[in-house]
Amino acid sequence: MGVAVSPIQIDSRVSEFLGKTRPMLIDGKWVNAVSGKTFPTYNPATGEVLAQVAEGDKADIDLAVKTARKAFDSGPWSRLTSSERGKLVWKLADLLEEHIEEFATIETLDNGKPLTVARAADVPLAVDMFRYMAGWSTKLEGTTIPISVPYTPGAVYHAYTLREPVGVVGQVIPWNFPLLMAAWKLAPALASGCCVILKPAEQTPLSALRLGELIQEAGFPDGVVNVVPGYGETAGAALAAHDQVDKIAFTGSTEVGKLIVHAATGNLKKVSLELGGKSPNVVFKDSDLDGAISGSASAIFFNHGQCCCAGSRLYVERPVFDQVVEGVAARAKKIRVGSGLDASTQMGPLVSQEQLNRVCNYLDIGASEGAKAVAGGKKIGDKGYFVEPTVLTNTKESMKVVQEEIFGPVVAAIPFDNVEELMPRANDTVYGLAAGIWTKDISKAHRLAASMRAGTVWINCYNIFDAALPFGGYKQSGWGREMGKDALELYTQTKAVCTRL
Ligand code: NDP
Repeated sequence: MGVAVSPIQIDSRVSEFLGKTRPMLIDGKWVNAVSGKTFPTYNPATGEVLAQVAEGDKADIDLAVKTARKAFDSGPWSRLTSSERGKLVWKLADLLEEHIEEFATIETLDNGKPLTVARAADVPLAVDMFRYMAGWSTKLEGTTIPISVPYTPGAVYHAYTLREPVGVVGQVIPWNFPLLMAAWKLAPALASGCCVILKPAEQTPLSALRLGELIQEAGFPDGVVNVVPGYGETAGAALAAHDQVDKIAFTGSTEVGKLIVHAATGNLKKVSLELGGKSPNVVFKDSDLDGAISGSASAIFFNHGQCCCAGSRLYVERPVFDQVVEGVAARAKKIRVGSGLDASTQMGPLVSQEQLNRVCNYLDIGASEGAKAVAGGKKIGDKGYFVEPTVLTNTKESMKVVQEEIFGPVVAAIPFDNVEELMPRANDTVYGLAAGIWTKDISKAHRLAASMRAGTVWINCYNIFDAALPFGGYKQSGWGREMGKDALELYTQTKAVCTRL
């Protein structure tokens, strides 16, 4: 399998953006790091440096937190009406929509994903997220509550609740959907009236920085959104530990999620986590097999398998096991891997050398454990971080490749005989993010959906996301739900007010 070469001419606005060292956004100003340091971000299709970015650290985080604190506690942000707040979030959606092509290109260059995908999914979903949440800003209502109070007989009270923003929020996001993850976190926080310090991943800081420019153009007051790029162990850790931060929202590995929880104990800030997964995708012999095969291929290969909800454990009912595995393997072999800028590319490179090493290491471990690659199984070429879409058979639950999150285009296919023996195996993981079920028997599908210990279950589809549909994990896949009405729970808190009449 060869790697396609990119023929596309980069838009001049994008070249200009990449041509200068990107500063960070603190208090409405674009500033260098206090240390003066910068770090490189790479183009994963070539391994070459794409741009230099200011390297935020503890001192920069501290400045950003102070300005966010001021904007929240006494700034104009807290005095805006909910309608004015909603309008700003909607305006940001409009601006982003006007720049779809530019953002898609930045995302492709920085993350490696195909431009066609960034253009059709990442950016429009981010636009939608801001619009959806803009509507909520005027609907964050409390309730009036009739109370009885047994120890004050005869007294009459008027009691009600208010839903108030949680305050200053730190948001640490990953590299797999850089812009979209920023939108998932910023949109509900801003709609709720919070102020934010956003730390993008070191591998993909560019779209968040460009979004910062649109946030200013939309007219958000200074300090409401601060974007501080930097490394996780320094900037991210400082944000998670900062005692003036009221809440930390994190998406990334379960390992770092646990560090965030520890770091948050200092001031007991609220924590929400969207972590890893090892999702079971179950194909029954009574399914529409063509649909199940192409859906199962896309469940694992979409975004090069760099999805927390990737359908990485493919359970297939034994009588159709060979047919389904052959079908998924045939699709894997046909996937055109190459630079994301090439219009014919269906799968780009992995995000980094580190991620390539990690995935290749798992391929070696799988082979040594006895797994057989019926498609793929190797890295591609020496330039860029490309790996073959891989289908492993001869796998079982005790293997590392079946238990651990690989976060690459690698699926382990395993046969099963009936629902009774399948379910404990499907749920036999520390994760619980998502699951897929393919069958025409709708009552079986819903019974199984109820038994899956997962935050999302897709029936006869996979990777279906909508701003209105909550997403998050059971077990070690996380705390709280992003998107939908549920996301507002993460950024608001309830105040009870009680008056004696
Ligand atoms: P991480 O969990 O390390 O990174 C996610 C974010 O957390 C990044 O912004 C990172 O910063 C930051 N971070 C890292 N360490 C700390 C810390 N101590 N305190 C605060 N923030 C921190 O993921 P990796 O990039 O290392 O990827 C490793 C694995 O994690 C993947 O192979 C995959 O299994 C999983 N993962 C899961 C994701 C999901 O969507 N659930 C997304 C990405 C990865 P920086 O990158 O700048 O160091």
